[in-house]
Amino acid sequence: MRRKIMINYVQVLTAAIVLTIVLMTLMTYNMFEERMVDDLRVDARVLATIAGTERAEQIFSELEKELRVTIVAPSGAVIYDNRMEAIRMDSHADRPEIVSAMTHGEGRDIRDSKTLDRSTFYYAMRLESGFVLRVAKESTSIWSVYARAVPLILVLMLAMLAVCALIAERLTQKLLEPVVEMAQHLKEGNEAAVYPEMEPFISMIAHQHEEIIRSANMRVEFTANVSHELKTPLTSISGYAELIESGMAEGEMIGRFAGEIKRNASRLLTLINDTIRLSQMDATSFEVSMESVDLAQIAGQVVSQLQVNAAKMKVSLELETQHAVIEADRQMMEELIYNLCDNAIRYNVRGGSVRVEIRPVRERVMLIVQDTGIGISKENQERVFERFYRVDKSRSKATGGTGLGLAIVKHIAAKHGAQISMDSELGRGTSITVSFDRKGAQMRQEDSDDHI
Ligand code: ADP
Repeated sequence: MRRKIMINYVQVLTAAIVLTIVLMTLMTYNMFEERMVDDLRVDARVLATIAGTERAEQIFSELEKELRVTIVAPSGAVIYDNRMEAIRMDSHADRPEIVSAMTHGEGRDIRDSKTLDRSTFYYAMRLESGFVLRVAKESTSIWSVYARAVPLILVLMLAMLAVCALIAERLTQKLLEPVVEMAQHLKEGNEAAVYPEMEPFISMIAHQHEEIIRSANMRVEFTANVSHELKTPLTSISGYAELIESGMAEGEMIGRFAGEIKRNASRLLTLINDTIRLSQMDATSFEVSMESVDLAQIAGQVVSQLQVNAAKMKVSLELETQHAVIEADRQMMEELIYNLCDNAIRYNVRGGSVRVEIRPVRERVMLIVQDTGIGISKENQERVFERFYRVDKSRSKATGGTGLGLAIVKHIAAKHGAQISMDSELGRGTSITVSFDRKGAQMRQEDSDDHI
């Protein structure tokens, strides 16, 4: 940034300096030219009074060093010149100042000498006799004035460079100071933008910052929860194993304890599986393999898989589907429907029912899992999607729940750009609707990052 500011400064200043010098020189030189011609005019007027007199030639030749005096006949032939032999000179009929003097009475011209560093100024006037008197003087040309200015320009530029470096240093520091300050205070939530142009960046950074902190907190919380959840079955397992080992368990007790060990071990497995699944989906590298899947077919498969469970709980399972093909990840769809149906059975009442409906509605496909179970109170409806949140912990555990089922559902829905809505009433039942976009899932990273 400092370098850029400095380069910009140097460019602007150089342009300004060069332009000023060029213009100033041009103006001064113009004035100088005017003065020069004015002087020549006066000289010519004076000399005109003596032209033709006897002493003229002598006076003209005395002036040789300061002034060149030429007399041209109306034909253009040079009849006198105080610096050259008139006879050797060619016709001056084409010289601009002579042409002008012949026609208008006076004329002027400036011609560069061969060396360019000098110019000759001419002034010519017509005498009463019809002859033309021309006076000329040499002087430095505008080019040599410029050439002389080059070292000055260089010195000025060097000085400017030094000044620029200083200014750029100060300016960048001043410009960056608030930005650095802001960056340091970002953590404290001080989002006031010093420059309005930076507002979008700041809010974006602040938002990301919040996200990172939230995400980190959730990870820590999740790890703590997982460890806690793993502890209970492991404690049970080691307790029963100890009892068997010490010989305190006898006969059929051993069988019962072994059963308990098996039950807790399988609970551990389910917990670990669910945890691994969530972690996989959390990973940024996690890829969803999209394909055309028929939700009705998957729902049918899941329902028949769960028939045994439903029968055990004395719950009837009903399926009402129409073919509905969407772009989705097959395994994830199976998990989503399975988790919803499994919950609808587990949190049901004896003799209750579960209805799974797949209903295409224009561009969308609705998956509705409705049960006549225990229902969820208003205040718990939002929270049940959180990881490890269970309304009734003992019931959840008794039925093999981990508290992660709905978190996985929410995650999968987000990965597919689907919306979840819940309608539930305590004692009457619950209905969960997942609405998919048929065109398939526009994967939305923010949604999938939204840990539950
Ligand atoms: P769990 O493994 O405990 O079932 P979930 O994440 O699937 O975990 O569900 C979280 C909690 O939400 C459950 O513990 C239960 O209290 C409640 N819940 C989920 N589905 C239903 C339902 N269909 N009816 C009543 N309560 C439900």
